[in-house]
Amino acid sequence: MAYIEPALAIPLRKGHYTMERVENPELQRQVLKWLADKYKILELRAPNHLSTYIYCRTKAFFDHKQAIEPTESELMLFITGYGLQYTLTPPDIEDSPKELDGVVSSPDIVLPPIILEQLIEVKSTRRSAKNHSDDKAVSDFWLQYMLGNCKIRDTNKYDLVIIYLMGNYSPPFPQLYADTLTFDFEEIELNWAMILEHKAVLDKALETDIMPTPYEHCELWECKGCRYNMMCEVLTREGLTT
Ligand code: SF4
Repeated sequence: MAYIEPALAIPLRKGHYTMERVENPELQRQVLKWLADKYKILELRAPNHLSTYIYCRTKAFFDHKQAIEPTESELMLFITGYGLQYTLTPPDIEDSPKELDGVVSSPDIVLPPIILEQLIEVKSTRRSAKNHSDDKAVSDFWLQYMLGNCKIRDTNKYDLVIIYLMGNYSPPFPQLYADTLTFDFEEIELNWAMILEHKAVLDKALETDIMPTPYEHCELWECKGCRYNMMCEVLTREGLTT
């Protein structure tokens, strides 16, 4: 290699480097696996976890049968969510899951009670922070989940931390917001009735080994990027769903 006098050295700029750069899919897979193991993403959550009765019941049925492993995009979404929650949880905070009517509750963070337990949910989103004050910034699913935890944990208060990963889409980003929500006891009860209805659908499906009809037990946006999309499409097209 030729010696270059320091005085003659010029700073390298983009396009002048001669290094070789090749994709390393093996390392990519390895890192995804480390992260999936770290956050226990491939382990089946308690089948009767509250979240099971919020999202698609057909998917929950397939998950229970462990039909297909998560896609790479699903893994990345889980990893981002769990990673942020893990980073934000204060040290030495542990919670024991609680159960009501066969539904298990484990909020993201539960601070020990002063009078009541303090429940905290940590959510991340790619939506813009500029609409944070709009009520629609809090998704229906987040609300259903928090209302369900309120019922199980006998409270009507919930803290919600939202991390806007892209801020308001102009630097600086990301941004973090925190709100305290106080629910009406009637909405807690109405939501609970809905959760028990969803539970009955899934319980029956697991008991009879007949999946809940695709697209009837979810919001259609859930199908986008769902690992069972193809399966639901084919089974529906072939009339094999009931
Ligand atoms: S594709 Fe849609 S209906 Fe089928 S499991 Fe996924 S979310 Fe549910």
